[in-house]
Amino acid sequence: MCYKLSNLFFGGTVDLKAFVDICHKLYDRKYVVGSGGNVSVRHDDLIYTTPTGSCLGFLKEEDICIVNLNGEIIKGAPTSETNMHLKIYQNRKDVNAIVHTHSLHSTALSIVDKKIELLTPEAEIFLKKIGYVDYLPCGSLELAEEVSKRNEDVIVLKNHGIVTLGKNLLEAYVKTEVTEEVAKLNYLVNYLKRI
Ligand SMILES: [Zn+2]
Repeated sequence: MCYKLSNLFFGGTVDLKAFVDICHKLYDRKYVVGSGGNVSVRHDDLIYTTPTGSCLGFLKEEDICIVNLNGEIIKGAPTSETNMHLKIYQNRKDVNAIVHTHSLHSTALSIVDKKIELLTPEAEIFLKKIGYVDYLPCGSLELAEEVSKRNEDVIVLKNHGIVTLGKNLLEAYVKTEVTEEVAKLNYLVNYLKRI
């Protein structure tokens, strides 16, 4: 992998094209399907987020919504998980980007209460530690509060999906990619051990 994590996607202003490219990549790699998942970035006191009910695979720059840190809508109809994004930004000053997906293997392991073991050096370096939150309804304030209390950058939501946090969107995206890859590896290793 040749990502440069020092490459800040959002140096001066929000790069909406880069935002949309990342959303398309999440869909192309099947980390989200249908209208699942959502993405946001923080710039100053504004949060740029995907719209509610949208398919990330077909997102356009003009679809991106804007809310302020108090949740007041400035543009569009933001994601139904806006509470979760806002609470994380309010509690974590180090976080400027959030990716939430329903990645298949990560979610499957959560359903059977298996933790994702960091089996590779890459997973240890990029993910460090994974947090876990019990099942709470999608879009609920309770889910938003529980997720925002975690101090890890990768959080598994039981029976639901994962949330990854970063200083910028590329960093949050890479954590999603590495989490799902190591979750798949967990699945394969557990399967092979039974043969
Ligand atoms: Zn979700």
